[in-house]
Amino acid sequence: MPSLAGSGPEAYIGGLAVTIAFDNSYARLPGRFYARLAPTPVSRPEPIAINRELAQELGLDTAELESAEGIAMLAGNLVPAGAEPLAQAYAGHQFGNFVPQLGDGRAILLGEVVDRAGRRRDIQLKGSGPTPFSRAGDGRAWLGPVLREYVVSEAMHAMGVPTTRALAAIATGDTVYRGSALPGAILTRVAGSHVRVGTFQFFAARRDVEALQELFDHVVARHAPDAQSPLELLAAVIERQATLVAKWMGVGFIHGVMNTDNVNVAGETIDYGPCAFLDTYDPAQVYSSIDRFGRYAYGRQPEIMTWNLAQFASALLPLIDDDEEQAVASATEVMATASPAMQSAWLAEFRRKLGLEEVGAAEIDAAELATRDTALIGRLLQLMYEGRADFTNTFRALPDVGAAKRHFRKLTADADRELSRLAEDWAQRLQLQGEDLASVRSRLATVNPSVIPRNHRVEEAIQAGLEGDYSVFERLVAACTQPFADRADGDRLTLPPEPHEVVERTFCGT
Ligand code: AMP
Ligand code: MG
Repeated sequence: MPSLAGSGPEAYIGGLAVTIAFDNSYARLPGRFYARLAPTPVSRPEPIAINRELAQELGLDTAELESAEGIAMLAGNLVPAGAEPLAQAYAGHQFGNFVPQLGDGRAILLGEVVDRAGRRRDIQLKGSGPTPFSRAGDGRAWLGPVLREYVVSEAMHAMGVPTTRALAAIATGDTVYRGSALPGAILTRVAGSHVRVGTFQFFAARRDVEALQELFDHVVARHAPDAQSPLELLAAVIERQATLVAKWMGVGFIHGVMNTDNVNVAGETIDYGPCAFLDTYDPAQVYSSIDRFGRYAYGRQPEIMTWNLAQFASALLPLIDDDEEQAVASATEVMATASPAMQSAWLAEFRRKLGLEEVGAAEIDAAELATRDTALIGRLLQLMYEGRADFTNTFRALPDVGAAKRHFRKLTADADRELSRLAEDWAQRLQLQGEDLASVRSRLATVNPSVIPRNHRVEEAIQAGLEGDYSVFERLVAACTQPFADRADGDRLTLPPEPHEVVERTFCGT
């Protein structure tokens, strides 16, 4: 029998009951992994968006989800039967400083379901009220970050970047104070799991080896069934994070707050706080207002992820070997593969963006080809940087280098000639795989998006949402979830910002 959070089952309103086949493996872990509590009810829940396609993937009944009870559940007003709501404990390095206790301060895990493909997925409410981990926070979210996370995470998914998903956005009818009074909202986040590097750090910092072992077993069962040992798990997570960061780089994504509590061991992008996409290509680009030293700049992401993985390795040490020196030696050996993994995942991603394939040509070996391809990609990126080229539109225009030039804001005669030479070298390189610029065209159109959730468009959607108009948000979601569709020349969602539209700073939005 479902019940209204905070009141007895007698408060249950009639109608469609929410029937979800929860199976909560995290809630079966020992009590020190979390705090059990229900979401705090809100005043007047109104749906802003419900992701039907994702609901179906999860095996949920969309009619039920859209019913009054469904909305009440998504607002945290109704805890459905089988849910075991809890806030997870975790620690983390924030901008390099270790904080031994963070935890879900504004999120509550309702439970897990096994989706239609047999994958276990977490269903979590974000902005659902205070928890024992809230510290000074109110446990709430305002509309802005909820709309941002919804559109950006769904865009990332559509572009093939592993990510947590957005099942719903609900307006709460309550006011949240962030310097000024703002409308409150709740996002329902779906994830392969919410276990973070910081979850391992939480127990490692407490020298709770028993808990570390249980967490390890939980993660292996969920995410790395082939890993026979902590070192194999470390290797698997390195591989996954290398692929993830390379995919971020490929779509011009800047995570913005790559703290270890925001690194999900399942290898999904998590925490869409101050994230933003590049307009003009610049490896030093930073948007986050709190990233004053550029720690999480676009081009530093592989290096920072490697640092985060080293923290993961440290947390695993007690499980690797009883002899600490031996544990460090073995972990160091595996960690040595992280930088090369980042580099090769990056190369694979940017090769894809140019249609380059590894070829077994007799006259050139794989290492030599990798060096040459890295140089070719590097030349293009250097020209894009100097020419203040729009990252997305330049790649989308390829393989037509002439058309790509139109997306350079500054094109000197030298750069113009150099781009034409680059096109010839690229064509020659494609010959090695029996192709030419024309033959890669259709493939590139499925790799290089025409539309991304540009920062100024996300801002525009939030501003309209604040006026009660969600149509701008809806159009943005519709476009960004079809990121490879051809769009008319001059389609406003494909345009870089006018000078007055440029978003200089983004905020965590907490
Ligand atoms: P984040 O920057 O989103 O990764 O959050 C870092 C930590 O701050 C996490 O423990 C969050 O749960 C907590 N936090 C962020 N915003 C709030 C809020 N409004 N209320 C309570 N805790 C919060
Ligand atoms: Mg976080």
